[in-house]
Amino acid sequence: MPLHLLSHPLGQHVLTHLRDKTTKPALFRTLSYQISLLLALDATRGLATEEKQIETPLEPCAGRVLSKPVAVVPILRAGLGMLQPFHDVFPDVCVGYIGLERDHTTAIAHSYYCKLPPLTGKRVLVVDPMLATGGSAAQALTLVKAQGATDVAFVCIVASPEGVATVQKAHPEIDIHAGALDRALNDRKYILPGLGDFGDRLYGT
Ligand code: URA
Repeated sequence: MPLHLLSHPLGQHVLTHLRDKTTKPALFRTLSYQISLLLALDATRGLATEEKQIETPLEPCAGRVLSKPVAVVPILRAGLGMLQPFHDVFPDVCVGYIGLERDHTTAIAHSYYCKLPPLTGKRVLVVDPMLATGGSAAQALTLVKAQGATDVAFVCIVASPEGVATVQKAHPEIDIHAGALDRALNDRKYILPGLGDFGDRLYGT
């Protein structure tokens, strides 16, 4: 399973400011938008296209248009911080939601909400900013596959080696697109150096 790391210098610039503990929620939201936009483009680089005949103001022209619908599935709640750029780039995108909450003591995720559209025949992007233990990601990927998804990628801002290994073991065919691969998890299952609790920093909680 390939791990695709964002290589654009703007991605590194934005990520550094996201990591900075002095970055306040308003700027944090803007930066999350920016890096998610870069990731949205990276994760859809291979989207299928088909020929479409159009007329320019000067002559007929054979162009190409997207031929496969895109679905994005944010994992609540932090995944919502990555959703808007997918909407902006793919206006016809359909959106599903998976609510998975991590118990802060055991670090085990449980599902409290799942609302998914039909996913057969779509390019499905499951988004969650922090791939930490990989437990939530693996569960979410199982849920979208059960809904008919066969062309799926996981998109995150920061990944840990443990999270990548967990997803790789449970879903070996899934590509992961990440802004960075960090060093490790601490004993509370936070990513190091990471950026702290993404949801708390996004929503100022
Ligand atoms: N979730 C977060 O928000 N941050 C981490 O470091 C790990 C999981």
